Amino acid sequence: MINVTKTFLPPFDEYIAVLKRAWEKGWITNNGELVQELQIQLKEYLGVKHLVLCNNGTIALQIALKALSIKGEVLTTPFSYVASTTSILWENCTPVFVDIDKTNFCIDPLKIEAVITEKTSAILATHVYGNACDIDAIREIADKFSLKVIYDGAHAFGTKYKGQSVFNYGDISTCSFHATKLFHTAEGGCIITNNDILADKIFLYHQFGHIGDDYYSMGINGKCSELQAALGISNLDYIEDLFKSRKQQWLYYEELLSNKQFQLLKITPDTGFNYSYFPVIFKSENLLLKAMIALKEMDIIPRRYFYPSLNKLPYLDYQPAPIAESIAKRVLCLPLFFELTKEQQFIIAGILLNI
Ligand SMILES: *Cc1c(COP(=O)(O)O)cnc(C)c1O
Repeated sequence: MINVTKTFLPPFDEYIAVLKRAWEKGWITNNGELVQELQIQLKEYLGVKHLVLCNNGTIALQIALKALSIKGEVLTTPFSYVASTTSILWENCTPVFVDIDKTNFCIDPLKIEAVITEKTSAILATHVYGNACDIDAIREIADKFSLKVIYDGAHAFGTKYKGQSVFNYGDISTCSFHATKLFHTAEGGCIITNNDILADKIFLYHQFGHIGDDYYSMGINGKCSELQAALGISNLDYIEDLFKSRKQQWLYYEELLSNKQFQLLKITPDTGFNYSYFPVIFKSENLLLKAMIALKEMDIIPRRYFYPSLNKLPYLDYQPAPIAESIAKRVLCLPLFFELTKEQQFIIAGILLNI
């Protein structure tokens, strides 16, 4: 069976060798040596100032909203994983959906101003598929209306914008290190900011609001364990290989599928893309469903990332977002993972081209 993704696992003995350090210390969580080491490695690798590891990418979003004291309405994208929206709801804020750009699938800055009200306090946008949002335009609007900007960078590990990590933009960026993501710690994630005061607050919030016996504020348990950090340290040794193969695979799909039958992702200008997902937009949902059946017959399981459009979630009042709804119905993400072969990609593309 070929799934949309296959978790990269480092050689077991390498993971165990790192993990052994935690065993020898008898210390497996609470800001341990491995968490601190991975934090330093990631800061250096990504070129960011402050980075706090978390137990997942959803709690990272919630802590980000909390640390910025976001209240009221949050402008957000309908085209993302459901956690982008539920984290807003979980923090008792109201998601207000802004439709997406029909070429890069990120929030469309041209549609933001029209929905700003006196209750709007933030923009929470996703660098969907690892493709950067129109960051400059978003910043301009945020400055004009004094809004905070949070980027859900769950897909954007390694993506650059104007020569530096995409995580360096906005007030706070978050990432997910879930097993399905390009770089992972089984479950995990992180919060990134350039702001020293915010960084201290985030650190405090992610460990119950206290340091030792000093209790500063309320908080939550967002801590990453040593077991997770050990996996991250082991995986980071392979990150360049992962990026290299991912890029080749992505470009090969593009070569095979660049015809008028499908719409493919347009990379945002000034973006150093991480090639993490290969979405294909069919002409109709019907064709997509046919393709899924044909692929399934060959034991190939792509995913409908991202369907449904989040403005259509059954527990929300409906707000229209026609472009996101249209794309969400017609998009399929093709298998993309380290061990995927050119032959397999050729077969997958052949099936799609025959629909
Ligand atoms: C995976 C993902 C998340 C959630 O991350 P977890 O680590 O699974 O909690 C949030 N937003 C987006 C866009 C994601 O793809």
